[in-house]
Amino acid sequence: MATNILKISNLKVAYGGIQAVKGINLDVNEGELVTLIGANGAGKTTTLKAITGTLPQCKVEGEMHYLGQHTKGLTSFNLVKQKLAMVPEGRGVFTRMSIQENLLMGAYTSDDKAGIAADIDKWFTVFPRLKERAAQMAGTLSGGEQQMLAMARALMSHPKLLLLDEPSMGLSPIMVEKIFEVIRNVSAQGITILLVEQNAKLALEAAHRAYVMDSGLVTMTGNAKDMLDDPKVKAAYLGE
Ligand code: ATP
Repeated sequence: MATNILKISNLKVAYGGIQAVKGINLDVNEGELVTLIGANGAGKTTTLKAITGTLPQCKVEGEMHYLGQHTKGLTSFNLVKQKLAMVPEGRGVFTRMSIQENLLMGAYTSDDKAGIAADIDKWFTVFPRLKERAAQMAGTLSGGEQQMLAMARALMSHPKLLLLDEPSMGLSPIMVEKIFEVIRNVSAQGITILLVEQNAKLALEAAHRAYVMDSGLVTMTGNAKDMLDDPKVKAAYLGE
């Protein structure tokens, strides 16, 4: 049986009086690319923030297990140490540092210099655009290049689970294609990914399994390729 990496049971999140997530279950197994799709405001980002423990002002209920361990009481710092990596919406690269320096920051928990150099080389082959610009300040990169850098930086930490929040947001169609090519490539290397996306078509094409969220609830789950052919998904999320 596949090893479970993340298990969410009956997760509920409220911002004051607003119940943004109303009791969802979600699993991610080792090596899977799982996508969470749904309309604006469905609760996708809130779910990711609940996983990383970055909802300090909210009422969070339910159970979460990461690598078989209950996450209650774990800080986001503990989770990073346990190789949970998140690329947030809006990317969050260090704008006044070069690409190379950003990548080194991604490896800050390691002191294996040779290993870090080998990892940078490895990710430069996956992200050739970053290699060409290694000395360039991150703040001068295009939105798509910053997205790639944020992903590469997260990958430098050897994540056991990579959380991606809307990686295609605000990018040109060509850049969106490129980002998805990279996501598929990273997944093919066996890295476990939970991908939150509004571009349902590309997300379903890339993913193994999918969850559809609507108004704080999971309304559908299953094999991603099957969902591409599902009439309800087509009508509601694929604009067909
Ligand atoms: P989007 O794709 O637009 O980011 P989403 O599915 O990620 O949507 P969330 O960002 O999780 O949705 O938002 C879920 C609900 O929670 C929305 O109704 C939103 O207005 C509300 N919400 C999110 N953040 C806050 C906050 N800090 N305070 C109050 N309400 C919030």
